[in-house]
Formats: sequence, structure tokens, C-alpha cells
Amino acid sequence: MKDVADFRSDTVTRPTAEMLDAMASAELGDDVLGHDPTTEALEQEAATLVGKDAALFMPSGTMCNLVALLTHTTPGDQVIVEEWSHTACFEGGGAGMVAGVLMRTLDSSHGLMDALDVERWILPRSEHTPGTSLVCVEQTHNFHGGVVMPLAGLRRIRDAAHSKGVKVHMDGARLFNAVAATADADAAEHAACADTVSFCLSKGLCAPVGSLLCGDAEFIQRARYHRKRLGGGMRQSGVIAAAGRVALRQMTVRLTEDHARAKRLAEGIAAIDGYSVDPRTVDTNILFVGTGQLAASAIVGAAAEKDILLYATGERQIRFVTHHDVGDGHVDRLLELLQQLAN
Ligand SMILES: *Cc1c(COP(=O)(O)O)cnc(C)c1O
Repeated sequence: MKDVADFRSDTVTRPTAEMLDAMASAELGDDVLGHDPTTEALEQEAATLVGKDAALFMPSGTMCNLVALLTHTTPGDQVIVEEWSHTACFEGGGAGMVAGVLMRTLDSSHGLMDALDVERWILPRSEHTPGTSLVCVEQTHNFHGGVVMPLAGLRRIRDAAHSKGVKVHMDGARLFNAVAATADADAAEHAACADTVSFCLSKGLCAPVGSLLCGDAEFIQRARYHRKRLGGGMRQSGVIAAAGRVALRQMTVRLTEDHARAKRLAEGIAAIDGYSVDPRTVDTNILFVGTGQLAASAIVGAAAEKDILLYATGERQIRFVTHHDVGDGHVDRLLELLQQLAN
């Protein structure tokens, strides 16, 4: 079998042997008609881990964010988000189309919005102005390079929102990468910066499918209704929830390995003339690299011939992501190729 080095995304990770075993022997029910014990166990474990009352299992992070929007808002409301947030930019416009909300996108310093700016944009609801019902934050921030939002900054945003009676949702697709990169705060402390939080099992945690939306019991009960409306009710979902339980139990602690490889990759690339990346900005497993004189598509093409898969995010920009299925040898191969192309 070819040894493919896949730096496109941590979503490409395959379920581990333990996950496949757990899936094969999962106790199942019907999660829409009644109960699915494995799904319920996952939801309970997830809620406990992030310090919320309850959780709801869904097929994707996109659906979690959309259900969060539907549950927190009324059509016509304004939602305040960072301008490069996944919810605003990369979820197919579902916020506008399905939830019917106005996305007020604010600029930021490396992904972190200014709390005073957030507060200023929470306009009083009137005949002229949309009411604001939600602020969304992202942890880690994907398109700002997987950076960890400082908790003090997130708390300022939360307090500004709460002072005006507005809720906060955290898109924590890579919450556990943020936790692994923060020495002094656990998942619950990160999640306490928001009223509700969603996170993905299918990225660095290697589960094949699935994300969770967590919040208080009353919120999750209403969210269940919106999930059903979107067609997100899943019957024997315990088959995939079983993999998710293994993900939460076994896969969070090893994320620091991915972060160390991303750092080494960034340092290696920074040492080659012609590319631009600042290793100091690489907090977790994602790095964006400027390709200078070289077209990103040319690099992607040359890499594919050597069984290295890359993802161009601009004409002269590539995003590299490290994960469970990327080893040190893959990083070496990639650095060698980038050096050759630069010469
Ligand atoms: C991946 C991702 C999501 C959700 O992705 P799905 O592919 O729908 O699971 C949401 N937010 C961020 C920041 C992400 O990176």
C-alpha cells in the first residue's frame, strides 16, 4: 500500500482499531423513536467533560452550529461573529438561509473580537434595529491558523454579551486542540466562556462521523426539536457514537503530538527561502503558509505526484494540518519537497 502523507485536514483521520471494535459491539436502540443507550452514554460523557448539563449528538459540526443558531435566535435577529469564522464563511450560508439571521461580522485581532466592539454592536431592539440574540466565538480559530483564543478575552466577550442579555455560543470544533495547548485550563473552563458549545469528534479525535452540541437541559431539549426538523435524527446512532466514546476516552491526550509536528513543520518551512510562515503563531495543528513566487496549485500538483496531499487556500497560500495519521517521516518528506521546489 502507498504511504500517502495527507496534510489537507485532520478530518481525513480514520477510525482506530479500538473504535471499530467498539462500533461492532455497541448496544443499540432507536434514538428517534425512543432511546439509544450508546448515544445517550456519549451525550452524558460529553456534557460532563465540558461542564454542561446535557448534550446532543449530530452528524456534523455544521449541523451543531446551525441547530445552535435555530435554538438561540428568532428569524430576523442579528448574530455577532468574527469575520473569518467557520459559521459565517464555510457553512454554505445556512445561517441566513435556514435560521434567517443577520450575520454581523466583526474584524478581530488574530480571531479574537474586541469585547467593546461586540458590546457596541448589540443595538437596542427597536422598530429600526434588529435585536441581537447571540454572539458566536470559535475555539480554536480555524482560518486564523488554529490559534487558541485567550480565555481572558473570551470571558470579556461573554461578560459584554451577558450584560446586554445576549447568549454566547462557542464553535469548539477543535476544542480539545485548544485544551491540549492550554496548560492551565480544562475543557470545562474553556466551555464556561460560553452558554453553549459544540465540538467535533471526526477531526483530530479520529472518529468517523459526529459532533456534539452541549448546553443546559432546557436548551438541549429545544435543540432536539430543531435537529429533527433538519433531518438530523439518527436511529441506531450508537454505531457511530461508540467510536465517539473511544475518541473522548483515548484520543484527546495525544493531540500535543500533532501540535509538536505542526511546530516542527512551521520551523522547517520558515528556514526555506521563498515561503512565509511565523512558527510562533502556530498554537495547535494548523498552519497557513504563503508560497511567495510559487503558485499554490503548482505545489499541490507536484506534491500529489509524490503521494503528498495538500490543500490550497489561496493562489499563493496553502493550509497544512497535522493529525493522527501524519508521522515524523511525512513531515520530513514534505519539507524535502518544499525545499526542492524552492530551489
Ligand atoms: C470543521 C469545522 C466545523 C464543522 O465541520 P463539519 O465538517 O460540518 O463537521 C465547524 N467549525 C469549525 C471551526 C471547523 O473547523
